[in-house]
Amino acid sequence: MQLEKRQLSLKNKTLFISCVVPVFNEEAVVEAFFTELQASLHTLTNHFEIIVVDDGSRDKTIEKILQLPSEYHIKLLGLSRNFGKENALTAGLEHSSGDVTIIMDSDFQHPIEVIPTFLKHWAEGYEMVYGVRVNRDDESSIKRNFANLFYWLMTKITKIDMPSNAGDFRLLDKKVVSSLNQFQERSRFMKGLYAWVGYKRIAVPFTVQERAAGSSSWGLGRLTELALTGITSFSDIPLRVWGLVGFFISFISLIYAIYFVTVTLIYGADLPGFPSIIVAVMFLGGIQLLSIGILGEYIARIFTEVKQRPKYLVEIKHGFEN
Ligand code: UDP
Ligand code: MG
Repeated sequence: MQLEKRQLSLKNKTLFISCVVPVFNEEAVVEAFFTELQASLHTLTNHFEIIVVDDGSRDKTIEKILQLPSEYHIKLLGLSRNFGKENALTAGLEHSSGDVTIIMDSDFQHPIEVIPTFLKHWAEGYEMVYGVRVNRDDESSIKRNFANLFYWLMTKITKIDMPSNAGDFRLLDKKVVSSLNQFQERSRFMKGLYAWVGYKRIAVPFTVQERAAGSSSWGLGRLTELALTGITSFSDIPLRVWGLVGFFISFISLIYAIYFVTVTLIYGADLPGFPSIIVAVMFLGGIQLLSIGILGEYIARIFTEVKQRPKYLVEIKHGFEN
């Protein structure tokens, strides 16, 4: 959309806004959250849809959503099991039809008040507006350090320009959504994909609130898995570095061999050296297992991709035209 057209559609409230919200075991917050989201979107425009993606909740989340007043612009996609947030978001984006799509969490950690600022930037011509958290005090220091290490590593070993502390709280233009919908990969790392697609973008700082109720579903195990997906989908350096390591080790061994032969020729054979043999064997064994493990990590992901299974399965579809 052209700039003036964007400004007019925002001013005349003809812009169609889609909101995509993934939920997983959120029975404690959904009622309050969607009531507030509905109310605040309603003050902006009458043309909007709220796509709730239930990611296989095992509590009363779905019942609570279906009990919401029917005048709410809610559409529900119920996935057949828990597919993980990245896939739930993918389902939401593939079903969203707005001129702009806003992605947010359902636990009030992404402030609803920021939406008008997102829209303002979109009307100024940005295709992607993303929230950057100014604080991470809602998280443990382990998680915080882990996140910092991960962002540092990603900037070192990948070519994509992924801003730190920017998550899934974003506004995406229709163009960006249709670009993202072209990605067929199964192990998805959305933060990387947002960066990969490019387009004109701007950051909006926001303060993360405490989770309204319930608890975060991201333990350290799940975060590590996500981090590995991020690294393996956007970098081949871990795979290729072993060539270099092998070269260096061979080079050092050659020098050592020359030294050893020379010393033996000059001073005769001397038989000690058990510690150095053991150290060398263990060092090489370790390096080999590590590199095979990393190969395995990539091969496992190739395996997942070639199976071409669906990214998610929709069991319940409520409120959609077709
Ligand atoms: N979520 C999801 N599927 C999952 C885990 C989480 O759809 O497997 C949703 C969750 O309901 C919430 C959002 O993703 O709306 C963010 O999750 P959470 O608050 O647990 O993560 P954190 O805020 O700690 O990053
Ligand atoms: Mg949260």
